[in-house]
Amino acid sequence: MESIQSLPGTEDILPQPQRVGQGLKVADIHTWQWVEATARELFQRAVYQEIRTPTFEQTALFERGIGEATDVVGKEMYTFVDKGDRSCTLRPEGTAGVVRAYIQHSLQAQGGVQRLWYCGSMFRYERPQKGRQRQFHQIGVEVLGSADPRADVEVILLATDLLQRLGLKNLTFNLNSVGDRDDRQRYREVLVNYLTPFKADLDADSQDRLSRNPLRILDSKDEKTQAIAADAPSILDYLGDTSKRHFDRVLAQLSDLGIEFVLNPRLVRGLDYYTHTAFEIQSSDLGAQATVCGGGRYDGLVQELGGPVTPAVGWAIGLERLTLLLAQLQTVSAPSPDLYVVSRGEAAEANALKLAQALRNHGLAVDLDLSGSAFGKQFKRADRSGAAACLILGDEEAAQGTVQLKWLQSGEQTSITQADLLTDVNALRQKLQAS
Ligand code: ATP
Ligand code: MG
Repeated sequence: MESIQSLPGTEDILPQPQRVGQGLKVADIHTWQWVEATARELFQRAVYQEIRTPTFEQTALFERGIGEATDVVGKEMYTFVDKGDRSCTLRPEGTAGVVRAYIQHSLQAQGGVQRLWYCGSMFRYERPQKGRQRQFHQIGVEVLGSADPRADVEVILLATDLLQRLGLKNLTFNLNSVGDRDDRQRYREVLVNYLTPFKADLDADSQDRLSRNPLRILDSKDEKTQAIAADAPSILDYLGDTSKRHFDRVLAQLSDLGIEFVLNPRLVRGLDYYTHTAFEIQSSDLGAQATVCGGGRYDGLVQELGGPVTPAVGWAIGLERLTLLLAQLQTVSAPSPDLYVVSRGEAAEANALKLAQALRNHGLAVDLDLSGSAFGKQFKRADRSGAAACLILGDEEAAQGTVQLKWLQSGEQTSITQADLLTDVNALRQKLQAS
């Protein structure tokens, strides 16, 4: 029978790295776990709390939250009608769900600022290619309830610290301000006036955006459009006093902290609710899908979704792109067990299972050979396992309640009672860790 394959744009994350086209390596699970653990540690130090929201939500949440004029809502959503006749959508991003939860559970009533992080699968119906999938993963942070420019800087630092700690090189941090609603309205007119005479030369998507979402034209990947956009007036020249003051403070603090950035007045985030600071971190090692992290301030979104006026700022990192970069740099090796248990004979095998379980309960990582094959073959696997020592049980040991402890590096072997082994498990642990 023909076997069933995974759907296009979805990927398995395996214990081993996978090779795909052009010798490129897709990261193994250990790389993913390392990224997640590193992020979690950073979030913990900055006292951000994890939030887990559902993988699917009412379609209206994303339509209102992300905006109908965006590609994500217009073209990319996985929307379905459930058996209760509700229109549901697999979440294409994390912010809308977090904001919905913030409003639904009145998190503002907790007082102060909510600092949250999330990690999980996102879904967009896109053309699958390197760094672009239909099911992908994001890790992200959201700070709700602070308009202070220091909140912008704090989240930026979390992103740059994380990427630096993971050892990523060749990154560019692009920064812009898209101002507030009034600034954008003013700029929008200026931009449309500038672009309209070039309309025929713009790519089809951009022509379409000229009336719906003209700022997004600045972000076009089309070369001809880019050339036209390069000479467009800069939004930074249209910021009002409040926006300018906010942005200046962000810039001053970033400089003070020694964070290098490129001021990029053509950087826009597609969504209407974005205000003030917008940023993207790009890697020159990723080809066309260069953006690893995107974020910014969204002071309008909580209100847009029916909550109280709440300034907010956050970012999301695409984990496929991040782990793809890491997989080319290094391999994170699978953790080795502390002990490998080999046994042969009915009584010995039953005894080995019990002993392995007792040692696991003492916190040791114990690999139990289940093959029932000859000792010689089991010893080979013990050597390959990376364990420092192996425990050997035959009929004699089982009958006497003893076990052979063999150190795999030196070959040194001693007989010990199982009772003593478990009593002195701390000494054993120390010896295992030292070797
Ligand atoms: P792009 O312009 O690359 O499509 P975007 O603006 O749609 O990005 P965001 O919504 O800002 O992306 O998402 C934040 C990050 O999530 C991106 O920078 C990217 O790293 C990642 N990401 C977005 N869409 C995908 C996808 N289809 N597959 C893999 N990663 C993705
Ligand atoms: Mg996209």
